[in-house]
Amino acid sequence: MTTQQADYLIANGLVVSGTCVAKQDVLVKGEAIARVGADVPKGAAKKVIDASGKYVLPGVIDAHNHPDNSDKMDTFSVSAAYGGITTIIPFIRSGRHQGASGTIVDAVKRFIEEGQRTSVLDFGGHASLVGGDDVERDVPALIRMGVLSFKMYMTYPRRGIMIPDDRMVLAIALASREGGLAMVHAENGYVIDYLEERFISEGKVSAEYYAPSRPRILEAEAVMRAATYASTTDCPMYVVHLSARESMDIVANWKDQGLRLYGETCPQYLALTDEAMRRDGALAKIAPPLREPEDNEAMWEGLATGLIDTVGSDFCGFTKAQKRSGGRTPTPEPRNPGIRVQGSESGPQNIFEAAFGGNSAEQMLPVVYHGGVNQGRITLPRLVQVMCENPAKIFGLYPQKGTLQPGADADIVVFDPSVKHTLGAAAQHCKADFTGFEGMEVLGNAVFTMQRGEVVIEGGELRRKPGKAKYLAGDPGLAAYAPKGHAVG
Ligand SMILES: [Zn+2]
Repeated sequence: MTTQQADYLIANGLVVSGTCVAKQDVLVKGEAIARVGADVPKGAAKKVIDASGKYVLPGVIDAHNHPDNSDKMDTFSVSAAYGGITTIIPFIRSGRHQGASGTIVDAVKRFIEEGQRTSVLDFGGHASLVGGDDVERDVPALIRMGVLSFKMYMTYPRRGIMIPDDRMVLAIALASREGGLAMVHAENGYVIDYLEERFISEGKVSAEYYAPSRPRILEAEAVMRAATYASTTDCPMYVVHLSARESMDIVANWKDQGLRLYGETCPQYLALTDEAMRRDGALAKIAPPLREPEDNEAMWEGLATGLIDTVGSDFCGFTKAQKRSGGRTPTPEPRNPGIRVQGSESGPQNIFEAAFGGNSAEQMLPVVYHGGVNQGRITLPRLVQVMCENPAKIFGLYPQKGTLQPGADADIVVFDPSVKHTLGAAAQHCKADFTGFEGMEVLGNAVFTMQRGEVVIEGGELRRKPGKAKYLAGDPGLAAYAPKGHAVG
């Protein structure tokens, strides 16, 4: 063959974009997609991947994860690749990442070095700004480093993680001025601390009291407040892990007014409820808490109608032992240490002392496909919008990432809709030894993952070695892609 021969032909599959599903072949040359169409000659590539009877998707972008507990970038990226994810955008916080101390800028530098050395997937980064960060100095510096998105916690005041509203408004205004965007964990932390304290003082520390300590209205209030700040500073705003049905009307109202407000939810808020909390105790402790079936349906409806723009995993990489011991969470000041109730073997006796966070990256695509597409709640193109295209568009990576079109990075997933499998700890490829989706039977799974033209997962085997991952500096000119008042996809 000639030297123009391409490297791979992904043949005979159904190629899915955000607008259609079509029987097409995808030709990969080097690190990029060379051609997509129904008329690609079969001899055009050195190797043919037969995707008959399968879907060919752009690699999923997981824009919400915290690989700084048991799983770091090395094992997290492998687990993500098995789940059909090809780009990860973790949260970086000062004082984390390989023992970094000092500023958030230092933490980002260490994080990039760690990712280039250990990740098997390309990665970007968001900066988490906490109360102690110098936002005037750091926000412009971070944007110059390609970190465009700044997450702020409207909760956890006693743990020193919440950023006070005055600092938050300043950070949002700076992000807006410099071409970045703001992200919030929207829950009213003062009211949560009050309720938690009250429950503890009354001896109500078993799992059933966890969700009532963080009622839905506290999320809705914080979404409203964050959107108000974004509106007055003209800044795009991304609300992570929406969970409460009451938040949907608020998002709808602000989107109607033209605010670039983006909503994210997670597989756990689509497919799990407070029943899991009552059963699994500490292992199911996440914030916002797992809610009711009506909230799951509201999240699905938001995904279908455009109120919710993306799905992220919120993977934390905790082991059961870390969850029991409170994990990375700084020890709260001692409060009523004498109070203890009977706990399950999977968690501490006081639910308020358990760590926040779960493990759900590898399961994310099958859970959203199964509950969304198989059960008729969203279409397959909509899945590609919310899991591939929109995160790329919002975080300044489109069209290099998130789409199968000529010139884009060859980040490709072959998804077999006929594979029936059971989700659980035994089937995942991370150090974390549990998942909230334990025992869930789903139909459909990623069976092949390629990133920038190199096979990462094939036949259940990891093919790529670390050391080739690229740090993806977000482009401020491309971020928050949609024109004002329009859903990104
Ligand atoms: Zn998170």
